[in-house]
Amino acid sequence: MVAGASSVKIVLIDFHTHTTASDGALSPSDLMALARERGVGMLAITDHDTVAGYLAATKALELEQPRAETPQLIPGVEFSCRWSGATIHILGLGMDCDHGAMREGLEMLNTARIERGKKIGHRLEALGFVGALEGALNEAGSSQLGRPHFAAWMVAQGHVTDHSQAFDKYLGQGKTGDVKAFWPELAQVVNWITAADGVAVIAHPLKYKFTRMKLRRLVVDFIAASGTGIEVSSGHQTRDQFAQLRRLAAEFSLEVSVGSDYHRDGPYSPQPGVALPDLQGLPGVWERWSGRAGTTTGSEIS
Ligand code: MN
Ligand code: MN
Ligand code: MN
Repeated sequence: MVAGASSVKIVLIDFHTHTTASDGALSPSDLMALARERGVGMLAITDHDTVAGYLAATKALELEQPRAETPQLIPGVEFSCRWSGATIHILGLGMDCDHGAMREGLEMLNTARIERGKKIGHRLEALGFVGALEGALNEAGSSQLGRPHFAAWMVAQGHVTDHSQAFDKYLGQGKTGDVKAFWPELAQVVNWITAADGVAVIAHPLKYKFTRMKLRRLVVDFIAASGTGIEVSSGHQTRDQFAQLRRLAAEFSLEVSVGSDYHRDGPYSPQPGVALPDLQGLPGVWERWSGRAGTTTGSEIS
């Protein structure tokens, strides 16, 4: 189904998006609607450390009339984990969300996030921001508690003028509310995904700002842990960066994935849907599930 660079028909795919189940602005069904509008053929909702967004979107789909333009929805999640002193993001795609390993992993991360949230809340309260934890929990609603929710509460209370001031003064790196989360190890996260029949994908590999050597070390360890995929196109990226990642994928025989990392509309934010770049024959992870997307005309643009 994946056409070469010379083809005029391009399939839009997006295997990296966020909803209100984590730190995205759109509800799962609104994201689905936007993706449909934009002609996305295959979509994965990859909220941070939760599959709630994917599950909610699945439920919404069951309630509506089947439409040819509706993107094929692939199970997804974006896990945070530790590797060599850094925090790495690993996407899980196509896994069985009910699998025991997956459930256990998600539960562990949920607990870790709540504990971290409590710590942030206590620290902010010690600074005099009474009610910080409760306020942040309210802001979070049913989504995963994180620093953005503390920021939203501080803005709403008038403690800061905006989100970025909250991070600059209280929540950003090195500030009082910068509590390191207890993330699992890379190998553990990859194991949860592959045990549940999913594909593990290194998300936005250049965002970690590793040297080429260190990035290669990450790939080697990732493969040793049974990881097989790498994101070669994510958000804003130059042609050179894409070419670098394509070479890396080819060298290590990795499957490639593409995603916008869409969180919300904004002047510099990519919209959902990535036009497939020239992959020079590299296998795309979507080929595993492309039963439908390749055959509908609704998912193609000229
Ligand atoms: Mn995010
Ligand atoms: Mn990420
Ligand atoms: Mn992301």
